[in-house]
Amino acid sequence: MRKTKKCQEKTAEMQDGTKRYPLSLHRVLAYQPRIAADDGGYSVASIVNHGRPMHDKTASKRCELLKIDGRLVEIKIKLNPRARRPIVKVNPSNGEVSVIVPSPRALEHALRFVRGEADWIAHQLACVPPPVLLQPGARIPLRGTDHKIVPGDGRTTRLDEPARVIRVGGRLEHAPRRLIDFLKCEARRDFETRVLAYSAQIGVHPRRIVLRDTRSRWGSCSAARYLSFSWRLVLAPPFVLDYVAAHETAHLREMNHGPKFWALVRDLIGDVERPQDWLRQNGAGLHRYRDLR
Ligand SMILES: [Zn+2]
Repeated sequence: MRKTKKCQEKTAEMQDGTKRYPLSLHRVLAYQPRIAADDGGYSVASIVNHGRPMHDKTASKRCELLKIDGRLVEIKIKLNPRARRPIVKVNPSNGEVSVIVPSPRALEHALRFVRGEADWIAHQLACVPPPVLLQPGARIPLRGTDHKIVPGDGRTTRLDEPARVIRVGGRLEHAPRRLIDFLKCEARRDFETRVLAYSAQIGVHPRRIVLRDTRSRWGSCSAARYLSFSWRLVLAPPFVLDYVAAHETAHLREMNHGPKFWALVRDLIGDVERPQDWLRQNGAGLHRYRDLR
């Protein structure tokens, strides 16, 4: 679950783990002493490129650098007019820090709020699990079950299922790439099996299955009947991959998220809440596994 803080009149962390920025100027001023106190503490925060965009002209894609616990942390600025007040978020799986800003005019207030929450951000970042480099010695949750990666003999990468070991072949420096190729192959096999079964059940005909490494979505369905999936779902328990496969296959009949669509998905896999909850809680963690640090 992504940790968030929304600015509130009271600065105490909300029950839902969020903190909001105060709406009125009066509340903004009331908030400032806390910011000063944080700046004087051991976790010094300062906006380095204050107010200047790093990458993009639009507020929705801007970044700021904030010094937290002696290191620079990139803060992604996301513009969302529907947000009633700034919200700072720390992704607990990959350490991405972002702040949602209702309008460009609220940016300065939002950044002040973020600066004031440097201690909280530092604490959240300290809890982020480190990335796992895909190489011999690492452990990965293949189909949700812990597997150890060990060097193999020969050039091919093999799954030794009874021992829960993946033997990666070839030279050590190529191990991360070979492992990703291996995981994509395993993911493709699982998705093809599931999509074929679900398609037969509801009488649809996907044209192609494409595997990607997307952050924003786990699967998609195009009007040309291409189904795309994230290969990282092979690192989740099978009921999660089944759900995403069923979800996208059902779109071949219902290209919407209406009641008929959800009835179709439930016909295919039964419970949809459990895999959805799993993805909300753990989905970002699947991006820990990397070929580069
Ligand atoms: Zn959908």
